[in-house]
Amino acid sequence: MIVLKSVKEIEKMRQVNLIVAQILEVVRGLIKPGVATSELELAAEEEIKKRGVKGAFKGVPNPQGFGEPFPANLCMSLNDEIVHGIPSEAKKLSSGDLISIDFGVYSQGFYGDSAISVAVGEAGDDVHRLIKNAEESLAAGILEAKPGNRMGDLSSAVQEVVEGAGYNVVREFVGHGIGRDLHEDPQVPNFGTRGRGIKLKEGMVIAIEPMINAGGPGVKLDSDGWTARTRDGSLAAHVEHTVAITKDGPVILSRLG
Ligand code: MG
Ligand code: MG
Repeated sequence: MIVLKSVKEIEKMRQVNLIVAQILEVVRGLIKPGVATSELELAAEEEIKKRGVKGAFKGVPNPQGFGEPFPANLCMSLNDEIVHGIPSEAKKLSSGDLISIDFGVYSQGFYGDSAISVAVGEAGDDVHRLIKNAEESLAAGILEAKPGNRMGDLSSAVQEVVEGAGYNVVREFVGHGIGRDLHEDPQVPNFGTRGRGIKLKEGMVIAIEPMINAGGPGVKLDSDGWTARTRDGSLAAHVEHTVAITKDGPVILSRLG
């Protein structure tokens, strides 16, 4: 069931998503070679406390039916890790790495959700190109998030940008509706066919989140039940915005400013 949001509710969701964006910017500012992903998690934890909100991911039950609930506020996915990487003292950033950070907040009865991919230190062209492509595919998907379009218009817009650059979208994970629950209907795939799928309506709020592999689209899961990485060991990038579909078109709720 798709829950449509009122203008007032979307305003609240903007406030929540703005906090997500602000905390992600704090974390982005701390990214440098030598920093452990656990240190970034601590910084996020401090910001969460300071603002009196709740991290959305800590304690989420493992969807595989094995493994612990998610133990952190940040999903930190390094290089061939696509999504749901777990912060750790042992996982230190090196120059040339690609780090994807996914973060969500719960406040005032609503969730916010966003992700960034960042090049660490002096990274190569392959890292910068993949991140740029992920951001461009997200922007292309957002442009299609307007009333009257179908989900397939949005999904295929993402897919075309990614495959046009010779990369692949992940199929195993998709974006989602978001509101009073972190994951609501509808699913928002990063692959599809124009003119197909549900009709997009004013009041829908969706998290659009391209997950992009530089190599093949295959995914494998670590024994922790969370960390999803590329099957072929290639680099992956992940970016996400929470977007409201309004009568005037898409409004990015998780953007700064
Ligand atoms: Mg997310
Ligand atoms: Mg999401």
